Amino acid sequence: MNSVPENRRKMCELQAAGLMEEMDQLSNNPAFVCGKCRRKANLAEALHNPLPLKKSAGDNFWG
Ligand SMILES: [Zn+2]
Repeated sequence: MNSVPENRRKMCELQAAGLMEEMDQLSNNPAFVCGKCRRKANLAEALHNPLPLKKSAGDNFWG
């Protein structure tokens, strides 16, 4: 990790706060999914219960 962004709130908190822009930034290249709320995020620490996302060729959104 080179630089840690200042806003390290959990995706679920961002959603509750309506911070859609931050959510978007934290999930523009998701590598983890929350086992609790099923949200996706780039960083495991942004989720309650991070589970690794399967890497796939394409970026599927919410199906
Ligand atoms: Zn969650």
